[in-house]
Amino acid sequence: MKKKRVAILGSTGSIGTQTLDIIRAHRDKFDAEVLVANNNAELLIQQAIEFQPNTVIIVNEQKYDFVCDALAEYPIKVYTKSEAVEQIVCSESIDIVFAAMVGYAGLKPVISAIKSKKTIALANKETLVVAGDLIMQLAEQYQVNIIPVDSEHSAILQSILSEPNEIEKILLTASGGPFFYADNEFIANATKADALKHPRWTMGKKITIDSATMMNKGFEVIEAHWLFGVKPEQIQIVIHPQSIVHSMVQFADGSVKAQLSEPDMRIPIAYALNFPLRLPLSCKRIDFSKILTLEFQNPDTKKFPCIALAYDALRKGGNTACIMNAANEIAVEAFLNDKIRFLQIAEIIEKTINKTTFIQNPQINDYIATDIEARLTAKELF
Ligand code: NDP
Repeated sequence: MKKKRVAILGSTGSIGTQTLDIIRAHRDKFDAEVLVANNNAELLIQQAIEFQPNTVIIVNEQKYDFVCDALAEYPIKVYTKSEAVEQIVCSESIDIVFAAMVGYAGLKPVISAIKSKKTIALANKETLVVAGDLIMQLAEQYQVNIIPVDSEHSAILQSILSEPNEIEKILLTASGGPFFYADNEFIANATKADALKHPRWTMGKKITIDSATMMNKGFEVIEAHWLFGVKPEQIQIVIHPQSIVHSMVQFADGSVKAQLSEPDMRIPIAYALNFPLRLPLSCKRIDFSKILTLEFQNPDTKKFPCIALAYDALRKGGNTACIMNAANEIAVEAFLNDKIRFLQIAEIIEKTINKTTFIQNPQINDYIATDIEARLTAKELF
């Protein structure tokens, strides 16, 4: 069978490097055709030498000469700037665009890739949070498959595949993050080292902080709404500290279907890459003879106000979730730079939503303008 040619946007990140792990183990099925990084030139060069892609992009212009020099003896094209990412995803030599960059930066390349009818493996959930209506409308118009990489949405997809019945409810599982068992005083004084200690997953810094505030789960509610066409009240967050059940779907007769595995992102990554066929993986298996205590609890929305902010943003619609995403990116960065305290993240998001211009039916230019306005507003709040 013809190999799938993959463009990995964010190849140097947690998801990107694990995607390359899968490609390394299945070289007969996949070629890394394009690799995109933002700052990490050293790792990008190392990946390029190993995988010999057609093209690499280092978005940060200051690193461009360094990457060019290091790859001069190889037949690899090197580009820079974010506009190059938007262009390269349209290239004929790409079959699947693996959107694994973090944040708002994913939006424009994903739109370009959809318009070029590329299959999208979507880890970059922020794209759906910012402009889910536009993305889903374009995906339908260009008949493009968006395959989720998030373990929860991959589990939901696997639970509804070949299922002729409508979803009654999605049960979106959450580990609870590092502060699930912490008291309010501890959370109020939490340092970035505390917040970066995720109990189950090793991920990039931004999503790890989003997991500590549980904004990540709020984002996933919005992602599930757009991907699976369910209303906010049909999505229930369920805390499941063991992270074995990756989400569940309930149907009209009360039956619930789920996907279970040990927590390992390579499983949903491989599923998205080779969809709908599973790849053999050497990941750890669940040992049903040894465990299992599987616990399920309700989230505490007072302790984690970002969950309620995300539901409210989804219900209000328009550009609200775009504002929320921009404010969150600014606040998380400020927290990581020791400029604000942990609880200020949610406060800044709420205030930014209240202060930024609301647009009921945003188009792409409105989303871009909203992102700029919301970032400026959020920065004035600390
Ligand atoms: P990381 O921070 O580990 O990696 C982010 C990647 O994006 C890096 O390769 C980075 O490049 C690149 N990048 C950052 N900014 C830009 C930009 N402006 N243009 C191009 N590339 C850019 O993040 P994760 O891998 O943890 O997360 C990536 C996405 O996947 C996020 O949206 C996250 O929510 C989602 N996700 C992650 C999971 C995980 O387990 N990590 C699970 C489910 C979803 P560089 O390193 O060179 O600066």
